[in-house]
Amino acid sequence: MIRHGADVSKQPLRRAFERAPIGMMIKYAEDRPWEGNSALGRMLGYDEEEFRGTVRPNFTLPEDAEKDAELYGELVRGERQCFQLEQRYVRKDGSVMWVQLSAFLVEESDGEPAFVLGVAEDIDERKRTEERLRQAETRYRTLVERMPAVTYIQEIGGPDSAMYISPQIETLTGYSPEECKDPDLRWRMVHPDDRERMRAEDERVVEPGEAYTTEYRVVHRDGRIVWVRNESVVVQEEASQSLYWQGFMLDITERKALEDELVHQAFHDSLTGLPNRTLFLDRVEHILNRTQRRDDPVAVLFLDLDDFKVVNDSLRHEVGDQLLVAVGQRLKGCLRPSDIVARLGGDEYTILLKGISKVGDAEEVAKKIIRELRVPFAIEDHFIFVTVSIGIVLSDVAGGGAADLLRAADVAMYRAKNKGKARYEVFDRSKDTQALERLELENDLRKAIERDEFRVYYQPVFSLVSNYIAGMEALLRWEHPKRGMMSPAKFIPLAEETGLIVPIGRWVLEEACRQGREWQERCPTYPAPIVGVNLSLRQFQHPGLVGDIARILRDTGLDPGNLALEITESVAMHEVDSTVAVLGALKSLGVWLVIDDFGMGNSSLSYLASQFKMEHLKIDGSFIREYLEDPNNSAIIPGLIDFAHAVGLRVIAEGVETAGQLRRLREIGCEFVQGDYVAKALPPAAANELLMTRAMVRYIPEQRGGGENLCIG
Ligand code: C2E
Ligand code: MG
Ligand code: MG
Repeated sequence: MIRHGADVSKQPLRRAFERAPIGMMIKYAEDRPWEGNSALGRMLGYDEEEFRGTVRPNFTLPEDAEKDAELYGELVRGERQCFQLEQRYVRKDGSVMWVQLSAFLVEESDGEPAFVLGVAEDIDERKRTEERLRQAETRYRTLVERMPAVTYIQEIGGPDSAMYISPQIETLTGYSPEECKDPDLRWRMVHPDDRERMRAEDERVVEPGEAYTTEYRVVHRDGRIVWVRNESVVVQEEASQSLYWQGFMLDITERKALEDELVHQAFHDSLTGLPNRTLFLDRVEHILNRTQRRDDPVAVLFLDLDDFKVVNDSLRHEVGDQLLVAVGQRLKGCLRPSDIVARLGGDEYTILLKGISKVGDAEEVAKKIIRELRVPFAIEDHFIFVTVSIGIVLSDVAGGGAADLLRAADVAMYRAKNKGKARYEVFDRSKDTQALERLELENDLRKAIERDEFRVYYQPVFSLVSNYIAGMEALLRWEHPKRGMMSPAKFIPLAEETGLIVPIGRWVLEEACRQGREWQERCPTYPAPIVGVNLSLRQFQHPGLVGDIARILRDTGLDPGNLALEITESVAMHEVDSTVAVLGALKSLGVWLVIDDFGMGNSSLSYLASQFKMEHLKIDGSFIREYLEDPNNSAIIPGLIDFAHAVGLRVIAEGVETAGQLRRLREIGCEFVQGDYVAKALPPAAANELLMTRAMVRYIPEQRGGGENLCIG
């Protein structure tokens, strides 16, 4: 027990107590009031008087008073020697502060307890910082544990028990964070098909700062498959140098499903859900690579519904759609599960038959299909009768890849159509070669623009009046990768038939006008040659023609007076009314109009000149060759030229091949000549060169004896 009456007041220590720069207090056991030093008073905001007065302030925060009293009690009763306590005091102004109280028992020299000395250190700042950190930690934890991702930290090579996994893991996998600390379970959760890959990734040696992303499947506790994306980074703790994986896991099941859906869409026809052309070709290619072509052929069937257009046009569009879906279903019903039906688009379907030993097997399937499709389709309240034409090809008959097989089947299908529809035909090289080549050519033609295989050659048109090159006719060439340089006669008819002439012709116009503009700029002192461009029927009928030409002239900056459009008389006479309108519109752009290949048809020259506003007539080469030097018909060409002049047309003679022809044409007043004798169609560089020396070009065949055609100098 503390001896009553013990006092420090008269001892030197008393002064030390008073002056100490740290808050101190003394408590006695008896009823004597406690004492505090001035530092303590200052700390709590009291002046000396108040602090030392008879009524001493009570500054322990009521909530902390009990603990404080209890510990003091134990000291005073001698049950402990000292204690330390973080507690709160209330300042005079009512504010609360944190102190660290260290109290101990001071004994008399005889060992009897004298009093309790308490030292109160201001730890308010430290406590506030701690509190802020704690709040921040709580905020981050809330964030980590509320966001829709699993966060984890794991020491690399450290104990699994120490790893942190946020509670969201339970939603993702069905297992609690605690359960997930079991490494065996963590591996068992990984989908068996992904396990090997994940193990290999797990065994890599890692470097601090290394980022790592992976996607894999987890089998949820309830058996569901969950796609997970794991993104993590290796961090190194400065103090311990230990490495940690720090990262998060996201549920990407929905995104994966969407991706799958997109992939499905890319390879399937949206209407019928059947594989599309891409997937079909891929499957055929795949099986061709796998099987021994000879021993284990496959068959490709190409189907085209007969007169589907009639159904589509006479019934509503939706009925047509439903019919296409129903046909797809019925086709499937005719096949084995391992066979593949695809829809190429429109009313075209293809079928891949596997395990065929002879063509007869495929023919049986074709017969079955034709029979099954005969049963009318009941769609809405219509009964629709469908027949189909089928082409069959066996992989050991038509060589090449999947695309070649498809093309061969397509050709055979065409033969079935030509033979009266509702039947099948088997591809036969001897019958189908021509059609196949045509189809191949068509295919190549479709790609020729983007593959940049077209060239424009230029054939000079020479003026017999001025002896200069007055024009350049743009003549298309196709540099085919396998067939070499192709003349337009070989592909223009096909381009015309397929409509491809429209984009091809547009390209020629762009190219020729660009070249024309270049010539205009290069030789400003001489009239630049007029560039002639041929237009075919399909181009001429295309509603966008006038707009296209106007735009091309604008884009290239070519003077419209430097462009001539060549149209054959048969094109012009095709639909006279609309021709008049189109030619009028073209004329108002300011371009020249030329009647090409005249002499091949039998139209009225005066009509062409007056109604169509043509101002040039090109006499066809064959006509020139046939009549110009024929003594029996010597009047035909002079008569034609005279007549042309009479109706206001200037004349160009085409296909001039000899000096004699040229001399004669000059005699009878023909203004322009074009032909191999003057100059052949030239690639742009050669045409350029010829033009650049144009100032000196004179056509004097008489002086040269006709041996050389163009003389420079
Ligand atoms: P075209 O418009 O009558 O062109 C003249 C054709 O006669 C050119 O044939 C030319 O090379 C050829 N030729 C020139 N001089 C002689 C000669 O002295 N003797 C002989 N026998 N032939 C000569 P090319 O280049 O084969 O063009 C043939 C046809 O293809 C052109 O006949 C034209 O109708 C058409 N064509 C050419 N390029 C185009 C084009 O860009 N668009 C359209 N739509 N058709 C074109
Ligand atoms: Mg022409
Ligand atoms: Mg011609």
